[in-house]
Amino acid sequence: MSADQNCIFCKIVQGQIPAKKIYEDEDFIAFHDIHPRAPVHLLIIPKLHIESLQHVDASHRELLGKMLVLAPKLAAENGAADGFKTLINTGPAGGQEVYHLHVHILGGKASA
Ligand code: AMP
Ligand code: ZN
Repeated sequence: MSADQNCIFCKIVQGQIPAKKIYEDEDFIAFHDIHPRAPVHLLIIPKLHIESLQHVDASHRELLGKMLVLAPKLAAENGAADGFKTLINTGPAGGQEVYHLHVHILGGKASA
């Protein structure tokens, strides 16, 4: 796993800064967004430091597939069983703030 020393999400992966973690396996962790924009606002991140969706290639196919398969499971387990939005902000024009690939899961009643 190639961690980036300046990356806040790599620091969460390595336990160097705290997060409200809800899930972890060999390839991913998921935690509550620190500034929730919906009643349920989760982030799923690969442990591997991938800057953004603009930095993926065919070698990441399986990882990306697994990440999306996790989304409904974690949504259901964390209060968004009746539906949710998924969001991946990519690059400056895509509003990306943290340059470590992550999927937002937004759910609960006011998930707009
Ligand atoms: P974006 O890169 O625009 O998709 O958004 C990054 C998201 O990460 C924002 O929703 C932030 O609130 C969230 N975030 C930033 N730092 C932390 C942190 N230490 N723990 C949890 N969420 C964070
Ligand atoms: Zn990182």
